[in-house]
Amino acid sequence: MIIQYHLGTGEDQLQAVRALIRGWGFRVQPNPGEAGGSPEASIQVDNVFGNVNDAHRREVAAFDCVKSVIPIEGVPQNLSLIRRGMHHSVSIPLPGGKGEVTIGGGKPLVVMAGVCAVDAAYTLPSHQMAKRAGANINRGGAFKPRTSPYDFQGLKEDGLKVLTDARAEVGLPVVSEILDVRDIDLFMKYDIDVLQTGTRNAQNFELLIEVGRTGKPVLYKRGFSNSIDESLKAANYIMEQGNDKLIFCLRGVKGIGHSFRNQGDLDEIISLSQTIDRPIVYDVSHSTGRKSGVARAGAMAAAGGADGVLLDVHISPAHALVDGFQAIDVEEDLARMIKVWRQLHTIGRALN
Ligand code: PEP
Ligand code: MN
Repeated sequence: MIIQYHLGTGEDQLQAVRALIRGWGFRVQPNPGEAGGSPEASIQVDNVFGNVNDAHRREVAAFDCVKSVIPIEGVPQNLSLIRRGMHHSVSIPLPGGKGEVTIGGGKPLVVMAGVCAVDAAYTLPSHQMAKRAGANINRGGAFKPRTSPYDFQGLKEDGLKVLTDARAEVGLPVVSEILDVRDIDLFMKYDIDVLQTGTRNAQNFELLIEVGRTGKPVLYKRGFSNSIDESLKAANYIMEQGNDKLIFCLRGVKGIGHSFRNQGDLDEIISLSQTIDRPIVYDVSHSTGRKSGVARAGAMAAAGGADGVLLDVHISPAHALVDGFQAIDVEEDLARMIKVWRQLHTIGRALN
């Protein structure tokens, strides 16, 4: 539940309410209002985490200092919008301590572009190309979750080395998928900036817990056969480890017959941007699975309220080890689409 207090509630009154709640074994996260903001923005709000029922809510509502008690069933507790319009951002440091990239919280659209699977020859030039075209973060998989055991599984540790050597040259942070809790130390050793958990691990709770414990930003991908509710609840495993650097990524789902690789879940961006307070990213490559689908899917995502767009690029798709067919390879095309996406992202804000 969320507790809103009356303006001017004193510290002793707050502590009395919180003591009662903690006595029930629940966790209280106080959110002080923003001083100098609107009256609505400057009131004290507490988020309560636990198995709250109607009786608990009634007891809390009986305190004179409590203005309202809002049940938040349906939306996982850590992700709920505390106040309408209050969106948290996630900042990712640039290599060498040269500033940071911030996603969400009303910041300009962030573009994450890079090779699907890291390869020795093309990762660096592909990531340089993505940067020149306007991307802010490079993506690249060293561990690839493949449907068939006979398909290329990724360069593994060698891939992390290639990826991070490229990072040092390109100067952009990197996001890379982790498949297994046993690889956490490796990802820490190479200081991967954003840990990606993939659609196939969307309910691998042990992995989500360990990834959350690292304290690193996490790009959590919706499960392709999970409801939004299931995916949000799973993402809460990350945040419950005290990690609020969660980025929620949609990437299409298994559908009942559609023209693209997956059935797009673009409209969920509209709903999520109104119900959760975390940055939202749309993966235009794994949803459409088609080079020709990427530009317009990104346009729809950007206009629809996504905070970021993720896509595969490769300067020589014929040599790509995975998913070359969906990779954008022409720098001018990429630069044009990123420019339009950013314009649409700005225009879309007028609809909020
Ligand atoms: C990927 O981003 O390379 C990937 C495998 O994505 P997903 O988990 O969405 O299939
Ligand atoms: Mn891919």
